[in-house]
Amino acid sequence: MKSRYPCLEVNLFKLRENITIVKNMCDKNGIKLAGVIKGFSGFAEAAKMYEDAGVDFIASSRLEQLEQVKAGGVKTPCMCIRIAMLSELERLVHAAEYSLQSEIEVLKALDKAVGRKGTIHNVILMVECGDLREGFWSEEELVEAALLVENDLPNLYLAGVGVNVGCYGSVNATNAKLQEFVDKAELVEKSIGRKLDILSGGGTSSLPRILDGDMPERVNMLRVGEGIAFGKDMPDYYFYDIEGINKDVFILKAEVVEVKRKPTHPIGELVVDAFGNKPVYEDRGIRNRALVAIGRVDYGDPFDIEPVEEGIKVLGASSDHTILDIEDAGREIKVGDVIEFGIRYSSSVYLTNSPNVRYVFY
Ligand SMILES: *Cc1c(COP(=O)(O)O)cnc(C)c1O
Repeated sequence: MKSRYPCLEVNLFKLRENITIVKNMCDKNGIKLAGVIKGFSGFAEAAKMYEDAGVDFIASSRLEQLEQVKAGGVKTPCMCIRIAMLSELERLVHAAEYSLQSEIEVLKALDKAVGRKGTIHNVILMVECGDLREGFWSEEELVEAALLVENDLPNLYLAGVGVNVGCYGSVNATNAKLQEFVDKAELVEKSIGRKLDILSGGGTSSLPRILDGDMPERVNMLRVGEGIAFGKDMPDYYFYDIEGINKDVFILKAEVVEVKRKPTHPIGELVVDAFGNKPVYEDRGIRNRALVAIGRVDYGDPFDIEPVEEGIKVLGASSDHTILDIEDAGREIKVGDVIEFGIRYSSSVYLTNSPNVRYVFY
């Protein structure tokens, strides 16, 4: 088959290795693992790797992805981790066995939708601990919701509670923060008179607690996306290294469409770029540059992709072109050559949603 670019090469073997590394970390600490697949738009080939590695749940924020996973024959229980829209509950009960919830009105409607299907659906009530995205902030309302699910909504099972950290509010998942979450979980347990099965203590940003050995004992489930599929946040932002994690499960390939020596500072009166920004341009004289045929439309921010080869640097991008400095590249780069880039969560969410980017598995 003739190659077409841009494409995204996915190394399923390396993905599988990463899942096993994180799963082993969790196993040693009595923590169940939900493999979150939304960071790469959750195709079934990848979900199968999570299933083979034996994760307890496959999780996504998007029902489309969970539906695709189920259609691909994956039997691992699915978890919807974006609190549900009222308008998607009928689909939710078919796409997921578990869901995160934070609104009493939605819980009541969900119970009805599940009743029509004639099964039981497991809910995890989200508890707000300061990151300020989803979750019950008022403890009274949290307890009210828990009692409602426990006693009055026959088609729902209160599987547990969960917390979100390090998302909107950039709040760190410290031992103290997660202990706050455990305290709220125990308040729920006291009110319903039994232990909860699941205390879901966050995502990738909670992995340092396992590495430091100070995860509150009662936290027994994590929902990990980035830390498995990309492995870049731990070293780059939290300064932890998880031994053996592959940071190149995904490699982006784009084709060179122009190579020319040009000035580095624009010539003329400067206003704004194609996206209304006023970038700063460093004048480094005349340098050799390459344009590759991929742009912001495909990956979002050009500085969230990183050339694999030494000596190649991203200068910037417009919708459909990315401008590279290749003055210091270790080889002659010509029109038609292919340049490889490492990607991260923030670029993958766009790349894997772009109809212009093909997947290649190996
Ligand atoms: C995206 C998401 C996760 C996974 O986050 P990572 O940082 O990728 O591990 C976990 N929980 C919820 C509710 C999410 O939305």
